[in-house]
Amino acid sequence: MMERTLGIIKPDGVGRDIIGTVLERIEKAGLKIVALKMIRMSKVQAKGFYKVHEGRPFYESVTDFMSSGPCVVMILEGDDAIAAYRGLMGATNYEEAAEGTIRRDFATDIEKNVVHGSDSPETARFEMDYFFSALEAAPA
Ligand code: ATP
Ligand code: MG
Repeated sequence: MMERTLGIIKPDGVGRDIIGTVLERIEKAGLKIVALKMIRMSKVQAKGFYKVHEGRPFYESVTDFMSSGPCVVMILEGDDAIAAYRGLMGATNYEEAAEGTIRRDFATDIEKNVVHGSDSPETARFEMDYFFSALEAAPA
């Protein structure tokens, strides 16, 4: 099923100059990058993005991290894109992530784990709308 998902290269990935590496893995996996930009979230914007995690012990820390520098945000399209991209990313905790995944290869910490990907059609809709206007996300 053709699907869209929201991907982010987090501030650690941007800071470590692996934007190109991550984008190459996405493209080689057959996911189409249909929208892409670099943004810097404020603390308030990061809290809005991760509001599903409000109240969790890592909420303050992860929103500090996500607002600490620029992120690359993108919309990816492809067959089962949500699961396909989460497969490319690997588990949240890089120590548990499968060999060859982005997090296994590049993450340094459970928080600083290089990439984000939507986890369901509902969160994908919310997250794509959070960063991209209807014009930017228009079908080709
Ligand atoms: P993401 O939503 O960023 O794609 P995920 O869906 O794999 O990652 P979530 O459970 O949604 O994981 O957590 C969101 C983010 O919060 C994680 O990617 C990580 O940066 C941070 N995080 C999650 N769990 C922890 C934790 N136990 N300690 C510190 N940071 C955490
Ligand atoms: Mg998540």
